[in-house]
Amino acid sequence: MYQIIDGKKISQEIKDELKLQVEQMKAEGVEKCLAVIQVGNDPASSVYVGNKKKACAYVGVKSLSYELPEDTTEEELLTLVMELNARADVDGILVQLPLPKHINEEKVLLAIDPNKDVDGFHPVSVGNLSIGRPGYVSCTPAGVIQLLKRSGIEIEGKECVVLGRSNIVGKPMSMLLLRENGTVTTCHSRTVNLREVTKRADILVVAIGKPKFLDESYVKEGAVVIDVGIHRDENNKLCGDVDFEKVAPHCSAITPVPGGVGPMTIAMLMNNCVNGVK
Ligand code: NAP
Repeated sequence: MYQIIDGKKISQEIKDELKLQVEQMKAEGVEKCLAVIQVGNDPASSVYVGNKKKACAYVGVKSLSYELPEDTTEEELLTLVMELNARADVDGILVQLPLPKHINEEKVLLAIDPNKDVDGFHPVSVGNLSIGRPGYVSCTPAGVIQLLKRSGIEIEGKECVVLGRSNIVGKPMSMLLLRENGTVTTCHSRTVNLREVTKRADILVVAIGKPKFLDESYVKEGAVVIDVGIHRDENNKLCGDVDFEKVAPHCSAITPVPGGVGPMTIAMLMNNCVNGVK
């Protein structure tokens, strides 16, 4: 029988721990504050921003909300980021992506002070992770590490295979598993004999962005499978990059979609806001 890794429960535990920590900080006169910037009103972005603000309210982190019109210029956005960089009362700055096409996303992310880069996307944060220095870590892969640790799954010495090498998931995921002393292989669209590689994995993290891509032919008996993907299937039901029904019976533990990795991202964002650079 396989273990279902319950991301809803674990993310709630983390938020409750942070809430207590924030209460203690407030008693000592310290308040944490996150600035959230959204440009335009993309419906998906509005949902994500709303969820982030709700999580802030739950944990006790103050949130400053900047809902800017679609026609905001790059210069106006950069000016706001600079102002927030300079404000001592703002601990974290989050610019919701994607930005409208006329704004250079990279330029904006680079403008965020790495000491306030709670998303962990700034090259300085990524570099710090690569060379083992303290820094903000991208929230989704950080959430995967917490799922593993809090489910009693040992990473040290294990064969870890990450399927996907994006800058926000695959690459930081590989670096984090390495930091936990896993033996890590990163796969991508040019990987030859993908099944042979994934079948070596004790821990297989799938972030390929293709609905139900991974079936049992990619998985070693007894592996732990973490599904980062999130999609709507043909019946408009949420599903992941893993075909759960086919893969689960071959695993020792697996994350479901929904209720696996998804809820962890916001919990880890809250962790970054409360605990700062680690
Ligand atoms: P992405 O930027 O599209 O990256 C996908 C990666 O998969 C790329 O590295 C690509 O390789 C690789 N790939 C694609 N097809 C492949 C194939 N046939 N064989 C081997 N490798 C292949 O996606 P992402 O941003 O990392 O996101 C991955 C998934 O996670 C998506 O479903 C996304 O919605 C989800 N996600 C979830 C959360 C969350 O909070 N739960 C957060 C972020 C993302 P190349 O580099 O060679 O092109």
